[in-house]
Parts: sequence; C-alpha cells; structure tokens
Amino acid sequence: MYQYDLFVIGAGSAGVRASRMAANLGKKVAVAESNYYGGTCVNVGCVPKKLFVYASEYPHFVEEAKGFGVNLELKGFDWATLRDNKTKEIERLNGIYEKLLDNAGVERIWGHAKLIDAHTVEVAGQQFSAEKILLATGGWPILPDIPGKEHCIDSNAFFYLENFPKSAVVFGSGYIAVEFAGIISNLGCDTSIASRSGKLLRGFDETTRQHAETEILKGPIKLLPHQPSAIEKVGEQYRVTLQGGEELIVDAVISAIGRTPNTSNLGIDDLQIETDEKGCIAVDDHFKTSVDSIYALGDLIDTPQLTPVALAEAMCFLRQQYQNDPTPMDYSSIPTAVFSQPNLATVGLSEEEAIDQGFVVSIFESEFRALKHTLSGLNHRSYMKLVVDKETDRVLGAHMVGEHAGEILQGFAVAVKAGLTKAQFDSTIGIHPTSAEEFVTMR
Ligand code: FAD
Ligand code: NDP
Repeated sequence: MYQYDLFVIGAGSAGVRASRMAANLGKKVAVAESNYYGGTCVNVGCVPKKLFVYASEYPHFVEEAKGFGVNLELKGFDWATLRDNKTKEIERLNGIYEKLLDNAGVERIWGHAKLIDAHTVEVAGQQFSAEKILLATGGWPILPDIPGKEHCIDSNAFFYLENFPKSAVVFGSGYIAVEFAGIISNLGCDTSIASRSGKLLRGFDETTRQHAETEILKGPIKLLPHQPSAIEKVGEQYRVTLQGGEELIVDAVISAIGRTPNTSNLGIDDLQIETDEKGCIAVDDHFKTSVDSIYALGDLIDTPQLTPVALAEAMCFLRQQYQNDPTPMDYSSIPTAVFSQPNLATVGLSEEEAIDQGFVVSIFESEFRALKHTLSGLNHRSYMKLVVDKETDRVLGAHMVGEHAGEILQGFAVAVKAGLTKAQFDSTIGIHPTSAEEFVTMR
C-alpha cells in the first residue's frame, strides 16, 4: 500500500541510525537529507569541534614541557591547514555514512523534505508514501535579535572561517561558546565572552561550574557580564556594543546563544503537528507526534541535545516499533562533557538537583594540583565532587573539572547509572598515580 515502511527526514545522528537499523531489520526504508550526511555532529558539531580542541592544546604542551627540561618552540599556527585537513576528514566521514546507508539497503534521497500528509513526503518535486514517517531534522543556531546581527558568525560558519581572527567576541556562555572561546583563545586570538548571566556554563552543578569558570579565566579569555545590543562594521572590523555600555572592536563576532528545532518548511503547521513553547515537536513515550503515523526524535524534541542521546532514542524507537519492546527511553544519568580547557564532565544529579528532588545529601569534594603540574609550573587545579544520598549511600552524581575529565567520567557514569554506593566507590582500589583515583579516595 505504501512505497516504504519508514521514511526518515534528516540523515544526522538520529536519522542515519534509525534508517540503517530499520533496514537491517528487513524494513523498506528511505532517508531524505538536504545538507550533509552525518548531520550536525559529523559536519559542524562534535567531530570538527574536537579536532579543533586537539589543535588548541598544542600551545599548552610547549609551555608545560619547559619544567620537564624539554624545550619546544612554537613557530606558528596555520589556520588554513587545520581547517582544510578537518574538512578532508569530514568528507571522508560523509562517504562512510553514505556507504553505511547503501550497504544496509536504505534508499538515499537528496533534497529538502516536506510533509504533505500523514503518509506522504515531498522531496525535490517528487512524492513518496510511507507507513511511518520519522522526523529527525535536528536543530539550527539562533542569532541575537539586535541591529547588525548579520555580521555574526554562527557555529556552522565557524568551522569554515576564511581567516583566523586576531580578536573576537563570543556571545553566550554555554557549551558552544565556552568550547569555541577556548579553541580560538589557545590558538592566539584575543577573546572575550559576552554573557547575559555573567556566568560560564550556568546550569551545571554550581561548585563544579564555579571551579571551571575560575580555571578557564586563569587564561587570557575575558568574561564580560552583558549581552550584546548592536554590531556595526567598521572597515574590516566590527564594533560591538554591549548592554553594559562596553564597546569592543574585533575581527570576528561569534554567536553561540543556543539552537532552535529545525522545522523550517517541514510542513508541520499544515498537518497541525503540536510543538511546545520552545518550538520542539511534542512526542509521547513512543516518540509519536500528535499525528499517529509521524514520529520525531533527536534535537528536534525537548530532550538533551547530545549525539549519544539521539542515537539511543533511535534505537529505542526501533525496539518499540519493530521489536515488540514498548519500554520508554531511560533519560537518567546521562553523562556529558564540555571540552573546554580544562574539561568539565558530569553524570547524574548536581547538588542543587538532588536537594530539589528531596534527597538529603552528603558532599565529597577534592581540589588539587594534578601531579603533572607540579613540574609544568602551570597553576592549574582539578576539582572532583560526589553527591551522595545520605539515606541509601547511593552516589547520585559525579562531577569533575580537570584534564581528560570527559574520558574519566565515562567509566564513572557506569557506576552512577548502576546505582553504586559511596562504600562501593571506597572499596574500589585506585589506579596510582592518576587524577581519576581521587573518585575512589574521597573521604
Ligand atoms: P542533526 O545531527 O542536526 O541532523 C539533522 C539532519 O537533518 C541534518 O543533516 C540536516 O541537514 C537534515 N535536515 C534538516 N531539515 C531537513 C529537511 N527538511 N529535509 C531533509 N533533511 C533535513 N553533542 C555531543 O554529544 N558531544 C559534543 O561534543 C557535541 N558538540 C557539538 C558542537 C556543536 C558546535 C554543536 C552545534 C552541537 C554539538 N553536539 C554535541 C550536539 C549534537 O551535534 C546533536 O545533539 C546531534 O547532532 C543531534 O542529532 P540529530 O540527528 O537530532 O540532528
Ligand atoms: P547552551 O544552551 O549550552 O547555551 C546557550 C547560551 O546562550 C547560554 O549561555 C545562554 O545564557 C545564552 N543565551 C541564550 N539565549 C540568549 C539570548 N537571547 N541572549 C544572550 N544570550 C543568550 O547552547 P549552545 O548553543 O552552547 O549549545 C546547544 C546544545 O548543543 C547544548 O545545549 C548541548 O546540548 C549541545 N552541545 C554539546 C556539546 C558537548 O557535548 N560537548 C558541545 C556543544 C553543544 P544563560 O546561561 O544565561 O541561559
């Protein structure tokens, strides 16, 4: 009756996983993509960002090496090499994603897809019918609504900058702003962050956030506690006015003030698909929208905007639809890391969330200079924190600021997810000498 069992719109993290795995289960599947295979994460998100973070760490190595008797000389940084090598790697990954879809037997359809009715999608003037339609169109960066906003570089454009700026202001102080500011600042750009709250990484566990802010601001990044009010082009540069009255003249204005669900010209209004106050598609426990045959997941719905979450939602959707398993997605204890210098990584409840949820908590903290920095001479200090339920001794949350915090927290995320107690942490033998061992030695 229909051409396809499943028509997926968007070949990003969620869409590729859902279409590929549905085809592997024997379903007839098509996926439409209008920009790039692999979506935000592969093209203008996690992957190129992490490559840039690696690049930005080298100048620190030069500094640190001196105390160890190793004399390195930093002879310069070539933005074009970094940008173009990154783009080559991304193109290689695009090809891998295409092959993954082809090998699974998914039909790839290139172009912007629009819903026509509950079972029909139109792409490039052609209509396709499907029993079920899955919306996986992700998000898109927003810009501040101020005069001169057209001069802003958003997170998509950041990865393809023609020239590396000597000076820049970054709007916002969440994940992207802090990561981008760290990248350009370490590579030699005079960087300011304009933040409406005046706080970096608001929303994370407060003492952890404060420690991260202190460490980040030990470097050359300046934090200005105001949001922008206007941008004006002045020759080859930009004059940025902030609401506090400050004026900055910079080479680049980078906006990272959040993202909006990508529903542009998707046809959801005609079908009266419900959205929430943020514009996210409203779904039930089975990712079903207000139209029975249409589903949505990933950054398009109001769940944590993280690639592993999008992948897990896709797998959950497949189990529910095609494997007779109605279990809803488990959103508890999702670990995450901000790849700032130093990293902030976290899993489970913050102290504030635990208290809000009615737990009486014991807090265990450790603040220390990592062994490496006793010789590097750098004044970097790490921070670790465990939030423990006093009644059951369960570790509710683990938080860290320090080198490799993202790598370290992944393992502890298993322990927190498994509901282990502080006594079980304490009975675990540490790996010495590491920073990670602090998590099992805090008393
Ligand atoms: P997307 O990956 O955005 O995919 C949506 C796809 O749909 C896109 O390819 C788009 O072109 C396509 N599309 C949209 N509309 C249509 C249409 N009408 N027709 C056809 N195709 C369409 N997450 C992490 O876990 N770790 C990180 O380190 C990390 N870093 C990030 C850094 C940045 C700068 C950004 C912006 C995001 C980062 N994220 C990170 C978040 C992560 O990228 C997203 O959570 C993830 O990509 C969401 O996957 P998705 O499939 O929902 O959407
Ligand atoms: P975030 O939600 O992390 O941060 C948005 C920032 O913009 C906040 O500092 C917020 O301020 C500020 N802001 C929001 N609206 C305005 C406004 N109107 N004017 C001025 N400032 C404003 O979003 P990002 O864009 O940084 O990232 C989007 C998502 O992508 C993240 O939430 C995360 O899920 C994902 N991501 C994950 C990464 C990772 O895993 N390492 C890396 C990058 C992105 P305030 O604090 O005051 O609210």
